[in-house]
Amino acid sequence: MPGDVIGVSEQFLPDKLAYDDGGYIKASVLGTVSINDLTKTISIIPKAGNPNVLEVGEKIYGQITDIRGQRAMVNIQSAKNTSRGLVFSYMGVIHVSQVKKGYLEKLTDAFRIGDIIQAKVTKVAGNNLDLNTEDNSDGVLKAMCTRCRAYMIPGKNKTELYCEVCGKREKRKISDDYIY
Ligand SMILES: [Zn+2]
Repeated sequence: MPGDVIGVSEQFLPDKLAYDDGGYIKASVLGTVSINDLTKTISIIPKAGNPNVLEVGEKIYGQITDIRGQRAMVNIQSAKNTSRGLVFSYMGVIHVSQVKKGYLEKLTDAFRIGDIIQAKVTKVAGNNLDLNTEDNSDGVLKAMCTRCRAYMIPGKNKTELYCEVCGKREKRKISDDYIY
């Protein structure tokens, strides 16, 4: 069952659909435990019809729900390339170092609460994901002006959005696929 302890990290490395939670290896999904003694890895073979879990490398759509210091919190809405429903309500985190190539001083120059984003999954631990938005296609897909809540359009350069209603300019990490 998801969350069940299936081993300890001194003995095994978590592999597919398993994750390390404070020294205990836990299952991400309902399935059968599979141990590889050669590689000392432990994984879960999901029950048929239950592979609706996200994996490293997949692209997701989500919404920024909070920005705390160096971390942006993301409510995951769906996987990009499938219409399948997700088995978890996933929560994602984007660290300030994972937003774009090169240095970003503060997260609020890239994201604001409410922004719809596309990101790549870089780590899966149960229903917690680490995300990255360095790819050109990743980043903010749709954003509202923080002053008047109108949807904004891309500005002249690739780092700013422009509000046609009130004239405000705001910095973002803008996806090449920004919707407007
Ligand atoms: Zn505005």
